[in-house]
Amino acid sequence: MSTRLAVALRRWVDSGAGGAESRGDPRGIDWPRVVPFVLLHLGCLAVLWTGWSPFAVATAVALYAVRMFAITAFYHRYFSHRAFRTSRFWQFVFAVIGAAAVQRGPLWWAAHHRHHHVHSDRPDDAHSALQDGFLWSHMGWFLARQNFATRSHLVRDLARFPELRWLDRYDIAVPTALFLALWALGAWLEAAHPALGTGPGQLLVWGFCISTVVLFHSTFVINSLAHRWGTRRYDTGDESRNNALLALITFGEGWHNNHHRYPGAARQGFYWWELDLSWYGLRLLAALGIVRDLRPVPRSVIEAGRRPAGIAR
Ligand SMILES: [Zn+2]
Ligand SMILES: [Zn+2]
Repeated sequence: MSTRLAVALRRWVDSGAGGAESRGDPRGIDWPRVVPFVLLHLGCLAVLWTGWSPFAVATAVALYAVRMFAITAFYHRYFSHRAFRTSRFWQFVFAVIGAAAVQRGPLWWAAHHRHHHVHSDRPDDAHSALQDGFLWSHMGWFLARQNFATRSHLVRDLARFPELRWLDRYDIAVPTALFLALWALGAWLEAAHPALGTGPGQLLVWGFCISTVVLFHSTFVINSLAHRWGTRRYDTGDESRNNALLALITFGEGWHNNHHRYPGAARQGFYWWELDLSWYGLRLLAALGIVRDLRPVPRSVIEAGRRPAGIAR
């Protein structure tokens, strides 16, 4: 086995293996690393054998909702943009739920996202549809060797926490735990509650494969479609768009032109008619005392966006 393949395989378990460098064409796909991503997609086809049950579909929907909230409200608005505050305990809890989305660890995610905001749609942007086309912006960029390592210098504030560094390095740990939990739950339900018509295989297909793959692509469209398809309220110097459909499936992230205008706000729907489920969820968590200091959108930005004539700054 060549060293390169050995390092790639070790990185399934330990993303810090082999150091930060990736040999080979930096924009080439790191195939051994990509195998789990491909398997998750193929796993959806097993539904042909397992079939469905209301319980399995409900599990998939619930896991989609909880993990999408953790990605949008915490990986994005909290870890990437510090748009509100919370305790170290809750920071960790939501980092774990976010890690269950199989989108790597919170440091990797936030570092690449911060980089995106600095270089949006310019040649250095890691995932620009304008620069590199739809497919690259959607999923080519994170399958490539050059974006495998965490851009640690951009997340020094987060790297202070050893528990977050651990989640980031062993980013397969939480997804593995979710896989095993679904397996165990399915096996128990099959034996104890056969009337539900479910079992371990079916819960894995729906709760792990289908839910996660839909979650993947719903997240990725913000990097691809939300920089191409929709309207522009603000002149942000990039191609970001507002799109109500994308906002619905991503719990508010589809107001992406708003977000590029003022990334530090805890809400991305700036007006009452702009549906932003993560914002409502954060308001609820604030009422429960779990998060605090939700950063508002400045009045000047709101007023500028109301002006009908042309595009606002
Ligand atoms: Zn963007
Ligand atoms: Zn952002």
